[in-house]
Amino acid sequence: MRYSGFRVIMEGLRGNTGWQPVWREPDPKPEYDIIIIGGGGHGLATAHYLAGTHGITNVAVLEKGWLGSGNAGRNTTIVRSNYLLPDNQPFYELSMKLWEGLEQDLNYNAMMSQRGIVNLFHSDAQRDAAVRRGNAMLMAGADAVLLDQDGIRRMCPWLDYDNARFPIHGGLLQPRAGTARHDAVVWGYARAADARGVDLIQNCEVTGFHIEGGTCRGVETTRGPIRAQKVAACVAGSSSRLMSQAGMRLPIESHVLQAFVSEGLKPVLPGVVTFGAGHLYISQSDKGGLVFGGNLDGYNSYAQRGNLPVVEDVCEGAMALMPMIGRARLLRMWGGVMDMSMDGSPFICKTHIDGLYFNGGWCYGGFKATPGSGYCYAHLLATDQPHPVAGAFRLDRFTRGAPIDEKGEGAQPNLH
Ligand SMILES: Cc1cc2nc3c(=O)[nH]c(=O)nc-3n(C[C@H](O)[C@H](O)[C@H](O)COP(=O)(O)OP(=O)(O)OC[C@H]3O[C@@H](n4cnc5c(N)ncnc54)[C@H](O)[C@@H]3O)c2cc1C
Repeated sequence: MRYSGFRVIMEGLRGNTGWQPVWREPDPKPEYDIIIIGGGGHGLATAHYLAGTHGITNVAVLEKGWLGSGNAGRNTTIVRSNYLLPDNQPFYELSMKLWEGLEQDLNYNAMMSQRGIVNLFHSDAQRDAAVRRGNAMLMAGADAVLLDQDGIRRMCPWLDYDNARFPIHGGLLQPRAGTARHDAVVWGYARAADARGVDLIQNCEVTGFHIEGGTCRGVETTRGPIRAQKVAACVAGSSSRLMSQAGMRLPIESHVLQAFVSEGLKPVLPGVVTFGAGHLYISQSDKGGLVFGGNLDGYNSYAQRGNLPVVEDVCEGAMALMPMIGRARLLRMWGGVMDMSMDGSPFICKTHIDGLYFNGGWCYGGFKATPGSGYCYAHLLATDQPHPVAGAFRLDRFTRGAPIDEKGEGAQPNLH
């Protein structure tokens, strides 16, 4: 069923009786060409591009809960490609271009809204770093605009300019950045993959791998064994747990990250704003709620719930940037489990086990990467060659001394 404005009107006139289920609920087959473990944004996008771009449709996505029950449904929905390093920037720019055509590609309203992101700076040194990043972005074909304080004030009059402990000097704006509706991205990819014949199997946890003579031949699940020529792990915060079942130890720690939403307000923020003197990012949803977040909780954990000290820390950052937020009531908060890699950059690669592939290490920036990650992972699975923009995202980069430390923080996952 194709979605369109005409269809909405027709269904309205017929009492909405003609809508069909958005995807099937198939039972697992005994064998597939490719099994993707994890029905988050990345797993579903991989299935979509495998089927749509490479014509490989004998594929199953195995999800232990419901589709989008992990970080895909828990993030603050920021989409951007404002990266510095040559191993990262082309990948995120490819992802941004895929975002720009996503709704047409999927025939689904993902509420992609390119309303810009501005990274504030509060010192001369931070301005120099912003200029350097902006130039790197422009040279890689992305968009970047340097704004002074007046430019920021025109965009965001509600920030604290005059009595602030960390006065705002300006900001680096990426106008094409913005937000997308996270659930809709999951549903759109799921619907498109299902329409091409991919089996989306929910409530099916992978509990082990069948490894025979150094080659992965399938998986053990809570719904029985399933064989496959290739098995593609894509489970974000559960990466270490899953891959330990194949005897692998990853350069990844799992940490909790929380998100917060206020009551609905009239429009006060045009796009996404990040504070440069603390860890805080904030935007306003289409319903008017302020959506914001900050640092990791700091303790390693697989619990999808957060702790109170970080609530205080995030709210302090919000008050320092935008004192009026103190008058808004908080409606909801929640946590997700982040797959924090040691250098802050991801993996899309083969493993040392033939037939077993790995995608993970997205830290708290994997939502924006969803289309690019799926596109490049599908390329790797279909061709056995890394996509040119994802060639550096390999597990062995640490053994080769070639980390991709975007922030220059060193091997401290809690800081990336
Ligand atoms: C609070 C918060 C805010 C964030 N904000 C942003 C942001 O603003 N911008 C941004 O770019 N990124 C953000 N992120 C990060 C982003 O959400 C993740 O990096 C991204 O969603 C990870 O990829 P995914 O969607 O495939 O993961 P997930 O949705 O977590 O998918 C993994 C799936 O694997 C399933 N699974 C796990 N183990 C198994 C198993 N053994 N068998 C079968 N299935 C299994 C899980 O149930 C889950 O559904 C944020 C994350 C959080 C938690």
